[in-house]
Amino acid sequence: MLFPQVMKFGGAALRDGAAVRRVCALIAAADRPAVVVSAHHGVTALLQRAAREAAEGRLETDALRVRHRGLLSQLELDPELLNRHFTELFSVLGEVRAKGRLEASELDFVLSFGERMSARIVAACLREQGVAAAPLDAFDLGLVSDSRHGRAKPLPGTGTQLRKSLAEVHGVPVVTGFLARDAQGRLTTLGPNGSDLSAALVAEAVGALELVFYKRVPGIMTADPARVPGARVIAEIGFAEAEELAAHGAEVLHPGAIEPAIRAGFRVRVVDVDAPDQHGTILSSTQAPAGPRALATLEPLHGFTCPLPSIAGRADLLARAFELLREEEVEPSIATAIGGGFHVFATSAEAVRRVAGRLGPNVVLESACSAITAVGGGGSVTGSRMLTALEAEAIRPRLAFALERGLSQTVIVDEADSARALRALHTALFEEREFVH
Ligand code: ASP
Ligand code: MG
Repeated sequence: MLFPQVMKFGGAALRDGAAVRRVCALIAAADRPAVVVSAHHGVTALLQRAAREAAEGRLETDALRVRHRGLLSQLELDPELLNRHFTELFSVLGEVRAKGRLEASELDFVLSFGERMSARIVAACLREQGVAAAPLDAFDLGLVSDSRHGRAKPLPGTGTQLRKSLAEVHGVPVVTGFLARDAQGRLTTLGPNGSDLSAALVAEAVGALELVFYKRVPGIMTADPARVPGARVIAEIGFAEAEELAAHGAEVLHPGAIEPAIRAGFRVRVVDVDAPDQHGTILSSTQAPAGPRALATLEPLHGFTCPLPSIAGRADLLARAFELLREEEVEPSIATAIGGGFHVFATSAEAVRRVAGRLGPNVVLESACSAITAVGGGGSVTGSRMLTALEAEAIRPRLAFALERGLSQTVIVDEADSARALRALHTALFEEREFVH
């Protein structure tokens, strides 16, 4: 066991100087931790905008400079600390502007500066507090992925090199989340919340006993508390349910972050960085629970319905549809063929429209909608309670499914109804007495 504990800090946990100081105090108090960090809150979005604007001919980086200068000054760190990174960032943005076009690989390179700079800031702040710490770029440590820029997948076996590299670090390693490189050495990113996945891979590689995600929420909750006032913390949840929640749109953890935990058997906790002594949520390999545990929402979803012939020719049509989805790089959130129709829902409106257009004249585009999923046990009982709750609100679901290993029940509603539907479902599943677990 190289490091007994891995601590992962998300962007919101590193939002300003005071927050970074608190994070460093937590790290200083821990026993031989390895640390993984996201970019400071909002920085990934700023980088994304800067990259897009560069491709359109504008070089606009003031907001990024101000953000990082502000952090350095709040923390009383060397104002020059990030100069090298800024120079490199401006030079790649300059190249993008000169070409007038942004490749996916360049976007990943631009995005990488968020995590690279936050690792420098956190490590420098730790050193100011007297803790030996080293900022490390995961792509230099040997975190290797495939080449799918923007949503790269780590390659199996990448942990061996990670472990070797981390074994040589003196003091606390502060590792960039979200970033990897492909076999050709180009930087890649692991998708939204990708730092969670990085942290899980680091925890697996170093043989950690525990991985703690410090977030700005009190734990994994029964629903997004910003949308459902009655949402509450789940004290303990199974790995399978947490995976299912993430897959159905709950943003609390990256969907791939659970797999390494199951493989390596370390404990996972989600804790409020502003109340680190509170219990938060413990993830474990416990058996399926008796009832529903949480609601996740995926929206807006865009989709189409394609009529299917009743018997002969169904497989041909489906094969063609899936081929088009692949060609247009649509990752369907939902794809289901039942009765006379084939339904597809995905997050990218444009690409869905292209597939529908190419598939044939009888294909009907669906207006924007939301998939709301109850994750947990309870099966069809949960499903029918959901439908009853929606009916009471006069909301007619467009589709309803019971999915995967009996762990989830999904309803698809118009996007305009989604807020109301979510609250009604939460009340029915989690706030009415007899169903509180
Ligand atoms: N910075 C990236 C994002 O905003 C990765 C992460 O935070 O996990 O999604
Ligand atoms: Mg994040």
